[in-house]
Amino acid sequence: TTPAPVLTVNGIEVIYNHVILVLKGVSLQLAEGDIAAILGGNGAGKTTTLRAVSNLLKGERGEVTKGSIELRGERIDNLTPAELVKRGVVQVMEGRHCFAHLTIEENLLTGAYTRKDKGEIAANLEKVYTYFPRLKTRRNSQAAYTSGGEQQMCAIGRALMANPSVVLLDEPSMGLAPQIVEEVFEIVKDLNQKERVSFLIAEQNTNMALRYANYGYIMESGRIVMDGKAEDLRNNEDVKEFYLGMG
Ligand code: ATP
Repeated sequence: TTPAPVLTVNGIEVIYNHVILVLKGVSLQLAEGDIAAILGGNGAGKTTTLRAVSNLLKGERGEVTKGSIELRGERIDNLTPAELVKRGVVQVMEGRHCFAHLTIEENLLTGAYTRKDKGEIAANLEKVYTYFPRLKTRRNSQAAYTSGGEQQMCAIGRALMANPSVVLLDEPSMGLAPQIVEEVFEIVKDLNQKERVSFLIAEQNTNMALRYANYGYIMESGRIVMDGKAEDLRNNEDVKEFYLGMG
């Protein structure tokens, strides 16, 4: 039996600047407790899909003009990003977006802005440190002076401070050495298994993403062109040829 979807995207269209149609009817589901990957090249529409879910398109002059988005069966398309965070849906943006002048710990604490209970926040911080021991070591370092991998971990840790059930992760491998990418994905897997956080991950690194995801969607020019269980996609000849570079 397939677990019920925590997140459902139904045929969404997204238009930028009132004229540029970028998503042409995208539908996908994230099953509760799963890791799903959105794969595809530059400009395929992965980031736009994540931004549509977390309602972050406005700042980019984009809007969802068709379709719907549901969290456990309830429409969420009209919620603000802050309301979505309260409901447990948090996005980690591409390019990491740590505050350069703040320490790692200060950065993490900014992720708890929707929460009030100091004890809970402190407990959550300790929990983040158990998953990211590197961040604990670097807790008093200014983010600007930490490595790319540490900044990516900081961005994920910051999202976790909101106690999410769904994390949207945009291109976590970007600019990182393969070994660090692996370390980040291992932690994501751990969080998924132990904390039951569901992840929707946009990735150009198809190979890495399909090793960790349960399910994959392949996007091209604003459409999902193929989807399936990660292991089926890994063994699919077309995927091997076009996306895994072993054709
Ligand atoms: P990348 O890996 O480069 O982020 P992507 O698959 O995430 O690629 P998107 O960033 O979603 O792709 O971009 C999809 C399309 O939308 C591209 O053609 C891009 O040029 C266009 N686009 C993205 N943001 C905007 C914007 N703010 N205004 C206009 N067009 C945009």
